[in-house]
Amino acid sequence: MRRCIYCSKHKDETEFNREHVIPQAFGMFEHNLVLECVCASCNQKFGDTVDRYLARDSIEGYARISEGLKRPAEFKSLGRRSNVEMIFDGGPLHGAYAAPSEAADDGSTGVKPAPQVGFAQNQEGPYKWYLLHELPTQEDFLRQGHSREDLRYIQFWGMTPKAARELWEHNGYRCGLDNVELSAPTGPQPVKTTATYSDVHIRAVFKIAINYLAATQGAKVAEHAAFESAIKYVAEGGLPPWRHVLLGENHWEFANSDNKSVSGNYVALLNAKNYVVVYLSIFMRQLWCARIAQQKDFLVLPAWDVAHVFDIGARQAVRVPVPAELKALPEE
Ligand SMILES: [Zn+2]
Repeated sequence: MRRCIYCSKHKDETEFNREHVIPQAFGMFEHNLVLECVCASCNQKFGDTVDRYLARDSIEGYARISEGLKRPAEFKSLGRRSNVEMIFDGGPLHGAYAAPSEAADDGSTGVKPAPQVGFAQNQEGPYKWYLLHELPTQEDFLRQGHSREDLRYIQFWGMTPKAARELWEHNGYRCGLDNVELSAPTGPQPVKTTATYSDVHIRAVFKIAINYLAATQGAKVAEHAAFESAIKYVAEGGLPPWRHVLLGENHWEFANSDNKSVSGNYVALLNAKNYVVVYLSIFMRQLWCARIAQQKDFLVLPAWDVAHVFDIGARQAVRVPVPAELKALPEE
């Protein structure tokens, strides 16, 4: 019999499988950190919820494309309630929705307009943009305080002329499509990406934190009562035990043996003054801090400051010293 760190149930060893500390969507590594103290049913539940959201609907999830872990054509967002929004910020598509795309020649990734429709009074705009599922009927558009003049110039993106005409008729638009623009502007277009963070994302960060605790200190340490509220939050949601989890952009870089900066993820566990904290950066983009216990609740103090870098290029998970920069971060 073995105990699952998330549901606390004692189950037969056959009911456990391997849980990766960092979900495999963010890279595969030799000597990877895996856990054998998470039951198959918790593992499955997390895969369908928190891991899935982190991989598909976060800044880190989008970055899987530029990191070469995912092709743009394979990218499926979670749809209309997406937490990440990319908007063209200037140029002829100002205000329009962008989506990841593959650049033609050098293989790097770029952006393209998402399937949408724009309306304007003048050819130069400003255009009012609607994603396809948001496109109002003509009746609703006029009821929202717009006039027929606002429908003089129309742009359709991400669909064929035939599909554009069908959509137009389906939504009850009676004016003609004489001023329709169907070709993409050339050259790079400025894009602004914004993200909102839902509870599911923050739980995904806390799960990596607790996984890392169990992987580096052992499942027995994770069973200590001090971590109970953080574990309950990962398993059931609610409110994170201690707030301020997203610290902003990551500024710490790790150099490999060729003295090149590593592209990948890192996790660090610190026994700080007031809290036990885990710092996490996926693709070295944003820096997250999960406080997983209050120091006053945790009376056993092993010398356990530990950090790992997950080098995507070399496909290696490597133990590294905890960066002094992280130790110096203010706790409150
Ligand atoms: Zn479980």
